[in-house]
Amino acid sequence: MMTVTKPDVEEVFDFLNLMVFEPEGFKVPMADHLDIMELEGYLGITLRSVNPLAGVDFVMCILNDEFKDHFEFVEIVAHEMIHIYQQKVLKTWGDHDDFFWSFKSIFGKYDLPLRERE
Ligand SMILES: [Zn+2]
Repeated sequence: MMTVTKPDVEEVFDFLNLMVFEPEGFKVPMADHLDIMELEGYLGITLRSVNPLAGVDFVMCILNDEFKDHFEFVEIVAHEMIHIYQQKVLKTWGDHDDFFWSFKSIFGKYDLPLRERE
């Protein structure tokens, strides 16, 4: 097992933007709030909170603080980056929709798996 910190996540996030997302035409902005903590039953989640009356449109990404290995860590960050793009750029709810799954072939070029997770 490996423990991760916020700087580790930011480093992988920047690396994936540079090596995978940007070459494909997608620059993923960082979530408004990034948190690393012990999660129960899943490894990462990205949530969008919208309150038009209060002018709130807020995206929060939370990652587990522990991963099996580096590959699993990179896979989860990449997965959540698609959700962040959906929620922050496309302003959708970040489901596993057609846009989400269109990254399966993109990720495949980089030997990066894309699976059904949170
Ligand atoms: Zn997901």
